[in-house]
Amino acid sequence: MKEWLLSFFFPPKCPYCLKWIDYRKTECDECLAAFKGYAYEKHTPTDELCVAPFLYKDRIREAIIRYKFNGHKNYCKSFGKMIAYTIRDTYGIDNFDMITCVPLYYARKRSRGYDQAELLAQRAALLLAKPYEPLLDKVKNNLEQHNLNSEERKDNVIGVYSALDREKVNNKRILIIDDVITTGATISECCKSLREAGAKKVICASIAIAGQSEIIITKNGQRFC
Ligand SMILES: [Zn+2]
Repeated sequence: MKEWLLSFFFPPKCPYCLKWIDYRKTECDECLAAFKGYAYEKHTPTDELCVAPFLYKDRIREAIIRYKFNGHKNYCKSFGKMIAYTIRDTYGIDNFDMITCVPLYYARKRSRGYDQAELLAQRAALLLAKPYEPLLDKVKNNLEQHNLNSEERKDNVIGVYSALDREKVNNKRILIIDDVITTGATISECCKSLREAGAKKVICASIAIAGQSEIIITKNGQRFC
């Protein structure tokens, strides 16, 4: 069915404030104006840098929960766009060769019907005109990180990820995307697997950073690295 016709029966809403929006838009103008240009950063336990357009709280947290657990797959369009802006305004687009994502275990992807980090990475790659490559496999179905404390999270991700094809990773500068960075243990373990497979450099991005973010990057193009 045509998108405009579908939108007649199921008009889209802004992911952040839930106002009705035009079917060609991915969020309302007010939310876009409020968020565009801000970014937050956090270092992983192994000191890779992560950037994100949002902090994980209030309506952003609620939007991400709807995206991950309540089937709002289409939010990837707005989230992917915000991540792409953040990548462009912080790292710059010449500082990495390809984009990948933190993978879901295959059974979880099957039950959810989509991989939320993969959709974000694909969307950001499209907008930044960079190749998207699935580079990692989740080889163990570990416990969900959000049920564990920070010490348990570190142990829970050890040996969980493995590079799919070392040839594709070798000597590459890789940007890896996840949905939310909390302690950074998961993405840190992914970075380790990519480095072990020969990656020259790994940098990270997500929709949101939970907890303390180290620096607020100012609006109006203040580059920080
Ligand atoms: Zn809105």
